[in-house]
Amino acid sequence: MDFLEKLKKELKEIKNKNLYRERVILPEDVIDFSSNDYLGLKDDLETKKAVCENISRLSVGSGASALISGYTQVQRELEEFIAHFKKTESCLVVGSGYLANTGLLQALATEEDIIFSDQLNHASIIDGVRLSKAKKIIYRHNNMNDLEDKLKKTNCRGTKFIVTDGVFSMEGDIVNYRELKTLADRYRAVIIIDDAHSTGILGGGRGTLFHFGMEPEGNVIQVGTLSKAAGSYGAFICGSKTLIEYLINRMRTQIFSTALSPLQNFVSLVNMKKLSQEAFRREKLFRLTRFLVKKAKDAGIPIRYYGTPILTLIVEEEKKALFVRDYLLKNRLFVQAIRPPTVPKKSSRLRITISYKHTENDINLLLKCLKTALESYHG
Ligand SMILES: *Cc1c(COP(=O)(O)O)cnc(C)c1O
Repeated sequence: MDFLEKLKKELKEIKNKNLYRERVILPEDVIDFSSNDYLGLKDDLETKKAVCENISRLSVGSGASALISGYTQVQRELEEFIAHFKKTESCLVVGSGYLANTGLLQALATEEDIIFSDQLNHASIIDGVRLSKAKKIIYRHNNMNDLEDKLKKTNCRGTKFIVTDGVFSMEGDIVNYRELKTLADRYRAVIIIDDAHSTGILGGGRGTLFHFGMEPEGNVIQVGTLSKAAGSYGAFICGSKTLIEYLINRMRTQIFSTALSPLQNFVSLVNMKKLSQEAFRREKLFRLTRFLVKKAKDAGIPIRYYGTPILTLIVEEEKKALFVRDYLLKNRLFVQAIRPPTVPKKSSRLRITISYKHTENDINLLLKCLKTALESYHG
């Protein structure tokens, strides 16, 4: 069969299963309930003003990878700021969260090692596990009994890694970090925690560890992205000086990929400072989230809430998720339908994220339309 014919056939099958995806450009007047811009920083006017005032000294590209000549003063300042904020010795800023997780796991885990990975970890972690040469063991979602069982049963000559999302991106629940840390200490494992959705949100913005009143230790590696609550682009890895030195020498996604531009790193630095200082953003975010949860409950809409601004409405069927999404969009509201392979089969859902920029009116409108959409769907 001709190559393109094969692709066309595949696409047709994707459409038949209601799994077809396309990119949309949201019109200006649509209220976005799907963005990860939790704190409203991606359009912040003060940040834009700071960019304007500094643009003449900021290169818009970095020109090379960090090890060649792309490392700059602004990236160093950003790394120092994040290390201080996360209370770690050192920090490495890299291109994106995807590059951080794939590069980190590939660089650290060898044939002798074992990676214990939560069933619902982000795709970038799954791909990182695949790229590494380590053996992988998947444990049940956030289930510390299952994790302990597996740690106990497994002999390992090398290092045991436990890798987990801090806040699970498609569920919105928080990892049971206290118990996970106890297990890591008991079985001498290294923790890699991905704070993509916790950075700026939990623990005064410092992330999951701090949410549990804990602080980093030698066997903990914290990853985070600058593209979500920080409203910029890029990612970071925080840990000991030795770890970061090793990654600079061994992490392929850092060695063979161009460094972020000084312009982008400047935006990250301004926004990281804002999210560390401006607690009022988190306060409003959580107030709005609780407002939605209470109103949804009153209206009989089964929203799942775990103390984060990621809320889910499980509808199971792909077709139903798409129907609700399209209905909402006709009413100038956007909630993306999340379907397999992003989530397990029979768990298609509407994933609603709250932002500092929303108002109570926005939320009232969303719930009203959601209710009508759910009631008017008949398979
Ligand atoms: C979004 C996300 C990433 C990827 O981060 P990018 O900077 O967008 O590449 C990694 N891990 C988790 C848990 C995420 O939600």
